[in-house]
Amino acid sequence: MANRSGSQSSVVITMKVTTTPAAHLAFTNLAYCSPSDLSQFAVPGSDLFLANVADVFTLSLSGHESIQDGTIALNLVQRRHARVSADDMVTITRFVPPEKFDLALLALELEFVKKGTKTEQVDAVVLSTQLKKKFMYQVFTVGQRVTFEFHGTNYILTVDRAVVEADWNQTNGIERGMICNDTYFVFEASNASGIKIMNQREAATRKIFKEKEFNLGSLGIGGLNAKFDEIFRRAFAYRTYPPHLRNRLGAKHVKGVLLFGPPGTGKTLMARQIGKMLNGKEPKIVNGPEVLSKFVGESEKNVRDLFADAENDQRTLGDDSELHVIIFDEIDAICKSRGSSSDGTGVHDSIVNQLLTKIDGVEALNNVLLIGMTNRKDMLDEALLRSGRLEVHIEIGLPDEAGRVEILHIHTKTMRENSFLAPDVNLQELAAQTKNYSGAELEGVVKSATSYALNRHLKIEDLSKPVDEENIKITMEDFLQALRE
Ligand code: ADP
Repeated sequence: MANRSGSQSSVVITMKVTTTPAAHLAFTNLAYCSPSDLSQFAVPGSDLFLANVADVFTLSLSGHESIQDGTIALNLVQRRHARVSADDMVTITRFVPPEKFDLALLALELEFVKKGTKTEQVDAVVLSTQLKKKFMYQVFTVGQRVTFEFHGTNYILTVDRAVVEADWNQTNGIERGMICNDTYFVFEASNASGIKIMNQREAATRKIFKEKEFNLGSLGIGGLNAKFDEIFRRAFAYRTYPPHLRNRLGAKHVKGVLLFGPPGTGKTLMARQIGKMLNGKEPKIVNGPEVLSKFVGESEKNVRDLFADAENDQRTLGDDSELHVIIFDEIDAICKSRGSSSDGTGVHDSIVNQLLTKIDGVEALNNVLLIGMTNRKDMLDEALLRSGRLEVHIEIGLPDEAGRVEILHIHTKTMRENSFLAPDVNLQELAAQTKNYSGAELEGVVKSATSYALNRHLKIEDLSKPVDEENIKITMEDFLQALRE
């Protein structure tokens, strides 16, 4: 078995960079050096070789007969990472893994090198064992592809996600780590590959990995990719891990997320999308002021009703219950600081209490996720924001210039596709002129520009004539006029 703290960690050698065909290395992602150089990195008694090139890129080295002593062959991606070119001299040192660099989870996509004629059954348990045998203590990076022979068939494994052991919450973003004894593998067969994976819990959550890569822009949400990633990492990434791993990582269920920030910035759009991602259907959205029924006492019943489905599922299905996402828009309307409401009826207080009971009280449900939204975080009852409740707080601010371009692009998409957008419309320029506009306001600008254009074409006196649709063009001037409104 390979030894992680081999005695040669101090070896430093200098090598000249040479190039190697990208296509070849795309499969293995290994850098090559000559067998004699290689011996300087070998961990005694193992087939493990790890090296650092200029402290930039971690490589596994593999001996290659055709490569001269003193040279290292790097493909394009590797050269870019290491910021070196052919003929540069680089120093290579044994890679000493940082502490807690062990991979807790490695998600791999499987495909054939050559597609088989019949469906290939791959046993996840056996494959995991083999992978560990071959790759123990090797470093894997998201996006890396390796070929692997298993039961006489060659597969390409693409690293989809790599989660290291260290404080998972913070290091989740670093998608690189080393295979260790405890690494848990999650496999997915690539589309229509004819590969069937056995012995792996049908991980519905795996879908989330994929959907995380959703292009939010194509869903009509602009400028919020980074926020979406943050929400995913802080609140949901753990849901994609198998239960035993969650325990090991000490990851707790996040029961609630608060999205706050100015109105019209896309909080509802995002919450809706998250709801859909997590359980594949439209989430329940409730509006704070609507819950506040005018009949005293009804409001608490409204809150109870909201949780009824989740409660029912938890009672009948237990741990198998699906996740119920409940979105509270304008949550400040019902969760004002207790005792602060001026109506004197105590209705707010009892609703807050009712909510808290559902989240962490005696009747607590563990199959719900609350997403609260507010423009007034300062108004919210502190108790609701504590750990175990709406504990992850994410601010959705006004879009920056790049975000505004994305949003304008989204809201002009249909008119562009239908050739209604004049060629002089410069979204970049419009974004520059709309500092402090929210997404909703940008949408308003587009609508208003559209009506200027239509007004030009449809004169009241000409209403009887057929509309010359072909010639309707929304011009830059229409947009500028909309901005001056
Ligand atoms: P919030 O919940 O933050 O008040 P919404 O999500 O309800 O805002 O946004 C209102 C409308 O404004 C949306 O339906 C959408 O048309 C537009 N909008 C707001 N933000 C964005 C955005 N980031 N990308 C695209 N459209 C947006």
